[in-house]
Amino acid sequence: MQISDTEILSEDVFQASGLANDFGARSRLGIYVHVPFCPHICPYCDFVKTARFTRNDVHAYFAALIRQFDFLTSSVPHHIRAVTVYLGGGTPSLFPPEMYQPLVEKISSRFEIEEFTVETNPFSNLDRHFNQWLNLGVTRVTLGAQSLAPEVLTYLGRKHTPADVIRNIESARAAGLKNIQVDVIFGIKGSVQERDVAREIELLARHGATGVSCYLLTIEESTAFRDEQNAPDESVVDEYSRILQVCERLGFEQHETSNFSQSPSIHNRLYWYGLPYLGIGTGAHGLLPASDAHPLGRRYQVGEMKQRTIPGDDSLPFRDESSRLFEIQWAEGQRSRADALQEMLLTLLRTKHGIPLQWFSAQYSEQTLLRLWQDIRLKKALEAGFILLSQTHLTLSPMEKIRGDSWALHLASVLHPSVAPAGTSI
Ligand code: SF4
Repeated sequence: MQISDTEILSEDVFQASGLANDFGARSRLGIYVHVPFCPHICPYCDFVKTARFTRNDVHAYFAALIRQFDFLTSSVPHHIRAVTVYLGGGTPSLFPPEMYQPLVEKISSRFEIEEFTVETNPFSNLDRHFNQWLNLGVTRVTLGAQSLAPEVLTYLGRKHTPADVIRNIESARAAGLKNIQVDVIFGIKGSVQERDVAREIELLARHGATGVSCYLLTIEESTAFRDEQNAPDESVVDEYSRILQVCERLGFEQHETSNFSQSPSIHNRLYWYGLPYLGIGTGAHGLLPASDAHPLGRRYQVGEMKQRTIPGDDSLPFRDESSRLFEIQWAEGQRSRADALQEMLLTLLRTKHGIPLQWFSAQYSEQTLLRLWQDIRLKKALEAGFILLSQTHLTLSPMEKIRGDSWALHLASVLHPSVAPAGTSI
């Protein structure tokens, strides 16, 4: 039986379509806090951030975060109690943990925090702070290492050394943090592409990392890297395959295309499973929980995006236009059922479990699903073992997950024929 639009995000449907089982945590809302301040600007980075700010800018920004949390929380239904908190950026670890205390107290007065992550930069002075992060309630840190090869760090414009990375992992471990996820960038073209990424991941694990997030370098027009080139597909696929092998050997399970760890992040899973999240702070995106006026939730973005006329120039308009940093830009109109389903196809397909068959039958008519199972490209991928069909799930093979976005577009074009056909590149 196909469900109605107003039920699509309900807890009953989440349970009945098999998603709750795969999701496996109590939280039903994420709180993402964007801290846009950085000690320097990395030439490949397309996030909303700035390295030009004063102490007053920072204090005003932290005060505004609390006001925005209050405003957005008024749209959260009371039955939502358990949440995850994620301090991202930018470089949240640039500031001492005590600066976040008022915000964390505010969040805790309304919600139970099931998981609390902070993004850290090995370049900021972390060692002495890990105990304080733990005292603040942090349960998980991510470390923006990107590589342990000095030439790769230089190419990426990072200011930390491999020794900084190792020392920080060990300090986090010694402080008692049990969940230490390290970011790694791969797919770098040119002389540095000969790096041994598997060896780097082994070293990270040996010193106490409990997982790695491996991101493919993408060249963005608005960055100082705009004239660099992407690595060729073959070398990217080869490097990804080496990442898969070493992670399997180390017991870092592949929870999603880019995410390998001993235990997966609940906060990331919220995004993957289509659950709502409050984005707070300039540059953050959010999806408000379903309401009568917006039965499929409401998307928004915080802050008016700066016109970036000079690639790599990331100064934010703190002084004259500070209020615009926190203006909420609501997505126009209501979120459609097709949009919501296509977004979920895109994220679910990248996950370890893939898409529950129960979810397909809850969301699509028999006739539509017949079209899916008769699709030639899908049939060939099933025969070749690129896609796996069990009694309960449709799942991309570990290696095929690198083409997850392309597959999601293809499935969406079959299930929602108004969508343009997908490309086939990685
Ligand atoms: S990569 Fe991280 S540290 Fe570098 S500019 Fe971007 S947000 Fe800042």
